[in-house]
Amino acid sequence: MATNPIILLIEDDASIRRFLRASLVTQGYELIEAAAGKEGLALAASRVPDVVLLDLGLPDMEGLEVIQQLRSWSNVPIIVLSARGQERDKVANLDAGADDYLTKPFGVGELLARMRVALRKAVPAEEGKPEESYSLGKFRVDFQRRLVFRDQEEVHLTPIEYKLLSVLIKHRGKVVTHRQLLKEVWGPSYIEQNPYLRIFILNLRRKLEDDPTRPQYLLTEPGVGYRLRDD
Ligand code: CA
Repeated sequence: MATNPIILLIEDDASIRRFLRASLVTQGYELIEAAAGKEGLALAASRVPDVVLLDLGLPDMEGLEVIQQLRSWSNVPIIVLSARGQERDKVANLDAGADDYLTKPFGVGELLARMRVALRKAVPAEEGKPEESYSLGKFRVDFQRRLVFRDQEEVHLTPIEYKLLSVLIKHRGKVVTHRQLLKEVWGPSYIEQNPYLRIFILNLRRKLEDDPTRPQYLLTEPGVGYRLRDD
């Protein structure tokens, strides 16, 4: 019998916990709460949540430390709840293994959307069966033939552009840091080479977006990375 997804919220601010409790329980999630990092890690081990929502400013530990400890034994999706202006922290947390982040204050709709992405990734339903195609708005990717179409017309991508798009599709709906993209597309020795990435993203936008200066699909997360819109 299917049970409700268990969400572990690690957050010391009682008003945010109250707000999220009301929203998530109404949506059918089971919520467990911790007000500090150590307590959160203990609950993650004992209750095995489906998603962890992690505040970065905890009284006993840095959020980064919580992520590192959790990642040493668990693949549970982690969504970081961060304060505005913590871009550098965000990048470090994502590179340490967090799956996504939300900047406070955020809306419930936004949180639920990110949680759906996280939960979808956590379900290994498509394991062993590779995706055959992917569609978003006007463009479609045929993975078997490695072809990309926009309004039924074939779009010619270079091998690197194709790989970059494939990586973004694999992580669709989630932010992917510059470092992650450089590593997955070009390899570990290129992780400091940001200019490459910017150029290839521009090229992809030129080929896939109606207006490359106002992208609808390939979104920029300022100071952090990129996110492929997910419908
Ligand atoms: Ca806090």
